[in-house]
Amino acid sequence: DKYCYYFGEGNPSGPGAKLVLGGKGISLGVMTNMGLPVPPGFTISCPTCQAYILSGNKWPKGLEEELDTYIARLEKDLGKSFGSTEDPLLLSVRSGAAVSMPGMMDTVLNLGLNDAAVAGLAKKTGNERFAFDAYRRFIQMYGDVVLGCEHHDFEKILNALKAKYSIKGDTDMTVEHLKELIISYKEYVAKKTGAPFPQDPKTQLATGISAVFDSWNNPRAISYRRINKISAEVIGTGVTVMAMCFGNMGETSGTGVAFTRNASTGIKEIYGEFLTNAQGEDVVAGIRTPLQFSQMTTMGPMWAGISAQLVKIMETLEGYYKDMVDLEFTIEEGKLWMLQARAGKRTGAAMIQIALDLIKEGLITKEEALLRMDPAKLSEVLFPMFDKKAAKTVIGKGLNASPGAAVGQIVFHSDACCEWAAAGKKVILVREETTPEDIEGMVTAAGVLTVRGGLSSHAAVVARGMGRTAVVGAGCCHINMDNKTLTIGDRVYQEGDYLSIDGGNGEIYDGQVPTVDVEFGEGFNQIMAWADEYRTMKIRTNADNPADCAAARRFGCEGVGLCRTEHMFFEKERIGVVREMILAESFEVRSEALSRLLPFQQSDFEGIFRAMDGLPVNIRLLDPPLHEFLPHLEEVDYIKTHAKQIGITYEKYVSTIRSLHESNPMLGFRGVRLGVLYPEISEMQVRAIMQAAVVVQTEGVVCLPEIMIPVLFSDKEMARLKELVTRIAKEVMDAEGVVVKFKCGTMIELPRACLVADQIAEHAEYFSFGTNDLTQTTFGISRDDGSKFIPAYQENGILPTDPFATIDQDGVGQLMKLAVEKGRSVRPGMSVGICGEQGGDPDSAVFLCKLGLSYVSCSPFRVPGARLATAQAAI
Ligand code: PEP
Ligand code: MG
Repeated sequence: DKYCYYFGEGNPSGPGAKLVLGGKGISLGVMTNMGLPVPPGFTISCPTCQAYILSGNKWPKGLEEELDTYIARLEKDLGKSFGSTEDPLLLSVRSGAAVSMPGMMDTVLNLGLNDAAVAGLAKKTGNERFAFDAYRRFIQMYGDVVLGCEHHDFEKILNALKAKYSIKGDTDMTVEHLKELIISYKEYVAKKTGAPFPQDPKTQLATGISAVFDSWNNPRAISYRRINKISAEVIGTGVTVMAMCFGNMGETSGTGVAFTRNASTGIKEIYGEFLTNAQGEDVVAGIRTPLQFSQMTTMGPMWAGISAQLVKIMETLEGYYKDMVDLEFTIEEGKLWMLQARAGKRTGAAMIQIALDLIKEGLITKEEALLRMDPAKLSEVLFPMFDKKAAKTVIGKGLNASPGAAVGQIVFHSDACCEWAAAGKKVILVREETTPEDIEGMVTAAGVLTVRGGLSSHAAVVARGMGRTAVVGAGCCHINMDNKTLTIGDRVYQEGDYLSIDGGNGEIYDGQVPTVDVEFGEGFNQIMAWADEYRTMKIRTNADNPADCAAARRFGCEGVGLCRTEHMFFEKERIGVVREMILAESFEVRSEALSRLLPFQQSDFEGIFRAMDGLPVNIRLLDPPLHEFLPHLEEVDYIKTHAKQIGITYEKYVSTIRSLHESNPMLGFRGVRLGVLYPEISEMQVRAIMQAAVVVQTEGVVCLPEIMIPVLFSDKEMARLKELVTRIAKEVMDAEGVVVKFKCGTMIELPRACLVADQIAEHAEYFSFGTNDLTQTTFGISRDDGSKFIPAYQENGILPTDPFATIDQDGVGQLMKLAVEKGRSVRPGMSVGICGEQGGDPDSAVFLCKLGLSYVSCSPFRVPGARLATAQAAI
């Protein structure tokens, strides 16, 4: 086995290369071969880490020997030796997986230092301050990453020392301060770990590499992979081991990151940040607020030269990646070194802008642009913005890290953020600086506000990656964690108070500022128009009120794929009548209640038909079990009052609630079964649909109703309901003297329905896959409770993805395939769509397209993503 790859030498290439070397390893090899200044080094492959993890954290056989050979090669190339006490070779050990996970895994810098080597380094470089600064950084990082010491304990020790000598910034510490700090750090490590700080460089290296391997499975990396749906089959990070170059050697040294284009807006302008006399973690961790890249040209000829060199390198890299590139660099005493390059994370708006510009610049084709865009990110450009006309009080300003308008109650901790969001609150996560640990909170927050950090801090990069509104580096904010207060100017906000933040301009507003819908930019419309040229499936929406229908239409839907009629029953004035209908002791009483529900339903359908003028509207008859509409037994007062109102006894009311209780309601008295036993309910609904159609048709609206029967498993059920639908429709049309073009079809959401789809198609005019129920019944996993163990199943690799989010091709998918074939064998070319959640999932699009589905249906905000994903599937 080969574990290590020297940068650029005999490196694998092609599509599988990333799985071997990881993104960082590839980029360092590529840049080395381009002749760009890259410090020499090598990459330990991702499969090596995989072998380590799968064997229970053991180094694979031969890795140790191979490592020795590669270190020897490095020593030879640099003329320094690892472990030397006179001129030590120092190393950086960094993670880099096949998919970029910014900041989620670990890194150790300045590795190889010890009490003797630090003196040698000081002597050799003639820069004692630098040497001791490197050593204190090493103890801190190695202590944190490898020895399990706490980052904030080191910070505490550092801050105590700075306070003791009234030192402001880290760079103001003298050699004497640093020496004292190192003593304190080592004392802390010894106390915390029960052993002195390890002095042997070889041990440092071996444990450092293992710690980076281990960081693949740290909680934040696991969260990040789950949130970003990174398959559990990709296991392991690459580890790059390379010669250190030092950004902390004084004022002609520094380190920074840059994006070749603006990652927030997509505008073609270099957007970078750096710090002088610093090492990389100072920039990305947002510890000091950095300088802007554009300032470099004003800092004298040396820096201007570096700036020019970087600009040139960026052009070269864009030419190679044919994309916006995010890079890291270090300047050591006036010499530039490249540490990494990758396609940069960006917002939805930037994604569109950059793709269009790259086409214009001739770097990519239209198809390439469509294929590389992330459908899920398109919805970001649809989110509302603050109303320009609304009165608002600007109370502060930070950096505009990730656009959008966020309004919410402030909290100061990631866990609180998750809890509050789970309770249905809109939350703004306010942090001194965010660390990768905050990722769970960032996911659930409406927006993120940080006091420190620049536009390339992890908070900013991760927020843009997930489309979360963020304002960072808002120095005007002061957090008091003990009292849980945020002070801005003379205003004090408690946890739970409302703030509004604008990630587009960085402004912070008092209270709740109203928002308005955005106008789509030309770029968005252009991309959508192109996507529409390619896709073969139509896009419909799941919507059950006129407002959602109108929104979905703005986003480009071509019909309603699922209108769940039960949602209309829950409104305040209606639920009482619905309950009356359910509690009715006779057919007559039930019919009377139904006749009072009819006008409500009819007016709902009229609104929906008007909003969808000219497009098909697929309406499903009542689906849930009836008990879902009844009050809980504990609501004694309500039940007493309502019982009196409708003229039944309290006891009867309660006994009906009890009798409708089911152990397995999802497999119970629901769907078509209701229509079979209580045809009068279905009749009322069909009548409401047809009468609404007549009304709007007379207004000149083009109305194309489709009436859909849920949860059936037999052609007999279909035949019965088809007869009912046809009979009532005819009654209405005859009475009104108007012809309405309608269809009657069914949901396919039970395995048996798939198996006998040919029989069902004798009666059903179309199918729509209800893949929520079909997944539930095929797996035998409750769709309501599966989330308790599905994540663990994913982590264990038993399930590659959540089957309720992404279609299970091997199981559920095969049933669908069978149903499509059987259905169309009886009714050639019949319309078959999908309206389960998986219909809006970009990762399912290719499979759904291959099945030959007529359309996918999804919630309104997912419509643009579905237009793009189905186009990608067809390209
Ligand atoms: C389904 O089962 O996939 C479906 C769309 O119906 P519901 O989610 O309402 O059960
Ligand atoms: Mg269903």
